[in-house]
This record gives sequence, structure tokens and C-alpha cells, in this order.
Amino acid sequence: MSPIYLDNQATTPMAPEVFDAMLPWLRDNFGNPHSPHVLGRKAAAAVEVAREQVAALLPDNGRLIFTASATEAINLAFGAVRGMASQGRDQIAVIDTEHAAVRDTALWYGKQGFDTVLLPVDGEGLVVLEELEACLSEKTALVGAMLVNNEIGVIQPVEQIAEMAHRAGALMLCDAVQGFGRINIPQQADLIALSAHKIYGPKGIGALWVRNGIDLPPLIHGGGQEQGVRSGTLSPALCVGLGTAARICAERREEDLAHIAALADEARSLFGDWTVNGSPDRRYAGNLNLRRDGLDVGRLMSDVRGVAFSAGSACASGSGRPSHVLAALGLEPGQIKSSIRLGFGRYNTAQDVQQAARLINQAAENQLS
Ligand code: PLP
Repeated sequence: MSPIYLDNQATTPMAPEVFDAMLPWLRDNFGNPHSPHVLGRKAAAAVEVAREQVAALLPDNGRLIFTASATEAINLAFGAVRGMASQGRDQIAVIDTEHAAVRDTALWYGKQGFDTVLLPVDGEGLVVLEELEACLSEKTALVGAMLVNNEIGVIQPVEQIAEMAHRAGALMLCDAVQGFGRINIPQQADLIALSAHKIYGPKGIGALWVRNGIDLPPLIHGGGQEQGVRSGTLSPALCVGLGTAARICAERREEDLAHIAALADEARSLFGDWTVNGSPDRRYAGNLNLRRDGLDVGRLMSDVRGVAFSAGSACASGSGRPSHVLAALGLEPGQIKSSIRLGFGRYNTAQDVQQAARLINQAAENQLS
């Protein structure tokens, strides 16, 4: 029997409508979207419809570039800083709790001569705006802030951060992976990264939205596809999958939000003995990061095989590294090791949450007694 899936921040199951929309592009319509003949033009038209469907959820004064993942989109976005160092802008500031896709890229640029600053968060996981204000100057090239944190679900004040970055003349990159298609996208960001597999779409495709007027150097050289910055033949099937997933998110937005909020309320009452990590109210309801002091989460996870959940982000738990996000909140190593992340999605039911709570609470009681 497959486990109850409560790990919707790591990835989401594909929506049936997305699968149906992709199928003809995998099976029948094999044309190269960059070919000038009729099969190519048909594929290109499908790609452009998908682009429009994704762009409909983003600000209207920019362009969308398809990539293989949000990680790739973020790496492409960072290219914007390359030409800025020669104009004296050589500082990059990102929140300490960013996903590795942003944090590690910023640190890599730090090794290439940029001055990379990791901005602290408060005990609720929200960026300390005074610290951002203090570090911004005419030297700042890029500020990176995520919309929704993947580990603790906290929603950062991205609009405010973007305004502050702009006052200093810097660009603002928003990693919107965990919020796109679910909550409002900050209109002031200059660069916005997203990923299909977090919104019930396929793995292997993401996108970067770029405000008009911002030039990016190519990330991948070659045939000049994707406006010259990301060469390589696009997969119409993946583009159609992302476009359809975005369209369905827009159509079902209120329904999805209400459903997920109800699941989160149910979970909060069933996990009454646990403490919520991160802001209790400035959060996306689909993410619940909980801790129960004294618990060994590694043991808990092997005891509770019937529930697929996480001990932090998928990458952090895979690497065995303690979560840098929970550490940034000021949690002790023991508290980090006693934290779990539950992620609710469109296809979860109240029964899923009740059954998972019963299994997890039972295993926790056994361990602590
Ligand atoms: N940013 C955040 C906040 C994420 O949660 C993830 C995925 O876990 C990524 C970036 C990377 O996305 P992708 O898997 O498309 O590279």
C-alpha cells in the first residue's frame, strides 16, 4: 500500500488534467518546436500557449524563459549581476533561510569576488528588515528573497524587500517556487523563479520571469533558443504540462486554498502537543513544520513508514545536514532533530491528515514514554 503523501513541498503528484494535456505531445505530436514546417509550427504554438498560461499569473511587464528547473532559472537570474561588478555593484544579499538554489549560488558568487551577505531572520523566520536596510548601498547588485519558505512555510515581505532593493538601485530576485499558483506574486520583483513539479505539473521544467529592460547573459550557449539565453530544444510536452498546471491553479485557486486551510486547521488541532516552527500566522497553510522536544525524528521516520513526510527540506534530509533554516531561527541542534515538516496538497483528504496524525503521534508517544 502506498503511504499517505504529506510531502507536498518536496514535490506534488501530477494533476490528471496535466497528464492528459501532455500525452499527445509525448505520443503523437513529435515536431521540433524550432522547425519551420507545419509539425514544428504546431509544437511552437503549443509552447506559446503554455507560456501565456504561466505568464497570466505573473506581472505583465516582462518575459518568460522556460528552463529545466527552478534551480536553473535561479542560476540564469544570477547572471544579471555579472556586468554590474564593473560598475561598482559587487554585493549580493540573500536571506539566510533561502533554498540552496539561491543560497549556494550566492555563496558561489561570493567565491568569484562578490561580497555575499546572508541576511538574518528573527525567531519566526522573517527577514530582519533593519539588517537589510543597514547592508543596502550603491554597491548592492542583487537582493534575493523567497516568497514562501520551503521548510517552514513562512511568507517573506517580498514587496517591501523589493522596494528597499530598488531604492538602493539593486535588482530583486524572488524565488517563488513554493508560492506560485497558490498565493499572490509580488509585482515589484525583477526576476521570479518557479517550478512545475510543485504545482501538480511535471518534473524537468521551470521558468524565469524577467522584467523588461533587464539583460541576462546566456546560461547555455548553442542554437539561441529561449531568447538567446537558454539554448536547447524545448520539450513541448513539458511546456504544455507547466502551462496546464498553472491554468488549473488559477482556476481552482480559491477552492485549493480553502481545502488546504481546512486540512491545516485539522492538523494543528491533532498535533496540539507539538510546537509550530516559524511564524504561526504569516505562513502558507499547506506547510506545517512542527517540533516535539526530545524526539529523534530519524527514528520517527523509520517507525512511521505509512506516511511520506519530511524531516526538513528534501535536500537537507537527504544530505543528513541539519537544517540551516531551523538553525537560523535560533533552534538548538536537539530541537532541529525533533522537527518534522508536513505538507498538504490538493489531493489530500481529511482522512489522510487524521490517519497520519494517529500514526505519527502514536510513534512519538512510544518513543518518549
Ligand atoms: N526553491 C525552493 C523554495 C524550492 O522549494 C525548490 C525545490 O525544492 C527549489 C527552489 C528548486 O526547484 P527545482 O526542483 O525546480 O530545481
